Amino acid sequence: MKGKVYLIGAGPGDYNLLTLKGLDCIKKADVIVYDRLANNRFLDEAKDDCKFIYVGKQSSNHTKTQDEINEIIAEQALKGKKVVRLKGGDPYVFGRGGEEGEYLLEKGVKFEVVPGITSAIGGLCYAGIPITHRDYASSFHVITGHLKDSSEELNWRALAKLKGTLVFLMGMANLNRICENLIKEGKKKDTPVAIINWATRPEQKVVTGTLENIHQVVLKEGIKPPSLIVVGDVVRLRSKLNFFENKILFGKNIVVTRSRAQNSKLIESLNTLGANVIEFPTIKIEEIVPNLELKQSIKKLQDYTYIVFTSENGVNIFFNKLYELGFDARKIGKSKIAAIGNGTAKALKNYGIRADIIPERFVAESLVEELKKVVNSEDKILIPRASEARKYLVNELSKICSVTEIKIYNTVKGEGNKEDIINFLDEGKVDYITFTSSSTVKNLVEILGKENLLKLNKVKLVSIGPITSNTIKSFGLKVYKEAYKYTINGVIDILKNDIVEGNINENN
Ligand code: SAH
Repeated sequence: MKGKVYLIGAGPGDYNLLTLKGLDCIKKADVIVYDRLANNRFLDEAKDDCKFIYVGKQSSNHTKTQDEINEIIAEQALKGKKVVRLKGGDPYVFGRGGEEGEYLLEKGVKFEVVPGITSAIGGLCYAGIPITHRDYASSFHVITGHLKDSSEELNWRALAKLKGTLVFLMGMANLNRICENLIKEGKKKDTPVAIINWATRPEQKVVTGTLENIHQVVLKEGIKPPSLIVVGDVVRLRSKLNFFENKILFGKNIVVTRSRAQNSKLIESLNTLGANVIEFPTIKIEEIVPNLELKQSIKKLQDYTYIVFTSENGVNIFFNKLYELGFDARKIGKSKIAAIGNGTAKALKNYGIRADIIPERFVAESLVEELKKVVNSEDKILIPRASEARKYLVNELSKICSVTEIKIYNTVKGEGNKEDIINFLDEGKVDYITFTSSSTVKNLVEILGKENLLKLNKVKLVSIGPITSNTIKSFGLKVYKEAYKYTINGVIDILKNDIVEGNINENN
């Protein structure tokens, strides 16, 4: 059986600028061949057993030659694999997709192309520059600034005459030459120019100037490839149309320490607000198996008058087991359900259960207060939860009635890498670290090592609530701010408000 190759345009860099078809191919791929311009996060969407091959190039310092890349993709497909060749932007815009297609055809390998948003258009858009505009440019021209043979010249005379927007790709090494030639052939010296570095990514940086001075601006600001060079009057619109860099958390580097399984909502919200999210999972949830106690208590669930859930993980593990044993939500019968936290209550809703009690504050103390109002000595409470949870809940409720605590999962150290986080901290690339539970604090400290603890005092530590804050303080660290509502949304609000308040202070 022969495989097939999908040449996929991964878009300019923003994770959400991939096509639905591209995503579908990535999900089904056996092999993904990718380079540095495609967002690496797409790889998380692949199958568990998908093989990844990096063929990145950096200017003239090629990791793999084009011939080698051609061979790799053809060879994998001939082995019967479904191969995705992931390319930045659009595969046919200076992506050498055409050459790869021709080669595959020669080898008798079937292929398909999935277009992507090219950086030449999408990148400008995220910099607030519309590539055409009725008042400024009625055409656009996308030009390579890196000629195949460096002695080969572009037709500068023709280019200088064009009234439309000129976009140079791969042009940074030749920026000076490009500007000089355009001026020499008649373009006005004060024609606006923008350089867009890492367009559409959270680290996007844009500088503007004119054909005459942009070279100095680039030197001064230290702008490097990959960058787009935009020449034309449309650059003037940037001050008005710059929606991306005006996002509230744009330019902020925020570390998320939750487990990978739980962090998607937080990451999505932060990305939407323009932040650069550094995923650093300090914890991993591991279900305790086998768990005879859990099995038995589910079988006699009708004996309990209350079931208390303290986390989303607890809910999911509990209900998975319940289904596995052949039951469904009806097994809960008349038992009342209590949940700490909105996330926990939401997880219950997925199983068709509406929590009877959700304490106002999302901590055990508040739940105990609520339960004290309703339970009596006849009640029997079941609490399936994390093995390392605080004793408070069980101790207090046991004073009133019978309580069965079942440990259903362990929170173990996550896969965050020590060197990575230390590098980020040393390079000053971290503005905030978010902690959403005590375990995230303890584990980050453990991963960093006590000797590196002080590095954390240089960044703003944001805590989800008082328990987590106490843990932060117990290591001698400073809590920058604590969420008013002890939820993920509460943490997001803190970050948003911090920027707004910071801006107000700066302007005063
Ligand atoms: N096929 C790609 C272009 C590949 S050529 C596309 O359609 O976008 C590589 C050049 O594209 C880089 O040298 C740079 O000039 C530009 N480029 C690609 N992605 C970019 C990005 N996110 N930010 C700035 N420039 C980018």
